[in-house]
Amino acid sequence: MAAGATVAVERGLGALAHFPDEAYATAGATLVDDASAALSGADLVLCVQAPAPDVLATLREGAAIIGQLQPEGDPARAEAIRSRGLVAFPLERLPRTTRAQAMDVLSSQAGMAGYKAVLIAAQLAPRFFPMLTTAAGTIRPSKVLVIGAGVAGLQAVATARRLGAQVECFDVRPETREQIESLGGRFLDLGVSAAGEGGYARALTEEERAEQQRRLGEHLRGIDAIVCTAAVPGRPAPRIITASMVEGMAPGSVIVDLAAETGGNCELTRPGETIDAGGVTVAGPLNLASSGALHASEMFARNAFNFASLLVSEGALAFDWEDELLAKTVWPPREG
Ligand code: NAD
Repeated sequence: MAAGATVAVERGLGALAHFPDEAYATAGATLVDDASAALSGADLVLCVQAPAPDVLATLREGAAIIGQLQPEGDPARAEAIRSRGLVAFPLERLPRTTRAQAMDVLSSQAGMAGYKAVLIAAQLAPRFFPMLTTAAGTIRPSKVLVIGAGVAGLQAVATARRLGAQVECFDVRPETREQIESLGGRFLDLGVSAAGEGGYARALTEEERAEQQRRLGEHLRGIDAIVCTAAVPGRPAPRIITASMVEGMAPGSVIVDLAAETGGNCELTRPGETIDAGGVTVAGPLNLASSGALHASEMFARNAFNFASLLVSEGALAFDWEDELLAKTVWPPREG
């Protein structure tokens, strides 16, 4: 609005995230009952997930669209974007640079997921997380292992520490040691280093994977709860915990596998389910950010707004292709 745009919001849009229609009206938006009419007249569409291909086909030709669009995840969606000549900005393509941080939906949503994963682990665990000195004896703190120290993993370390657990974490990017320690966690060194491009990890070789698993298998026997967050962009989640490692864990242990969406870091994970594997609970929750919908939405909206601010000037759309955030995010990718 401050950028001179008029804003239409679908009635009921924020209800599930606890944002009532009146809040949008008070902020100056027009509430619409017929989203399709508003969509077909819009110069710029902001969304969380991509609309269905038949809805994309009703957008104005050349309109811009911002959201987690995943064009490569669905050929029909990709075709609808191309054939309509839409200027699509899938936010998951945003470069992970300092300037982009305020627009980074992968980070804001991963933060919520990492936080919730620890709460799920604490809820499923048949024990306290903190150390307690009570008249009924002293309770030792739970040992929590976080696998992967990206955005979700570091939030999981911080959250488990706040709950009083003893926290260890490992990652194949060596620079994470300092980040883990700064949050009060212990870096678990499994002797494998596999930093890839763009600040991400690369996939491990077979030898590296075997070494990681050999050292980890022994270690897991003393762990009460594991939160898995390891990922490699564009690939299925790395398989890190085998069925035999789970077999070696103490009954009552818990594994919460955030990587379930892309196949799981644990061999036994069933996406969307919580199972009992010989006394070890293995949970594979999906779309965890939505379980913290109020703050997840608030952060997503702020990210999307910050990106949209790069495109809207005095009420009109203008694309500055010299700006690497636009040039690298746009889809289809620009030539050269
Ligand atoms: P991600 O979700 O791609 O992966 C999660 C973690 O899993 C990563 O830390 C990765 O190193 C780790 N991993 C992969 N394979 C593993 C294995 N076999 N064993 C153990 N760990 C494994 O990561 P992300 O949270 O999206 O963050 C990726 C990078 O981007 C990080 O360096 C992060 O600090 C950086 N980042 C930068 C910005 C920014 O500046 N805009 C924002 C967010 C993240």
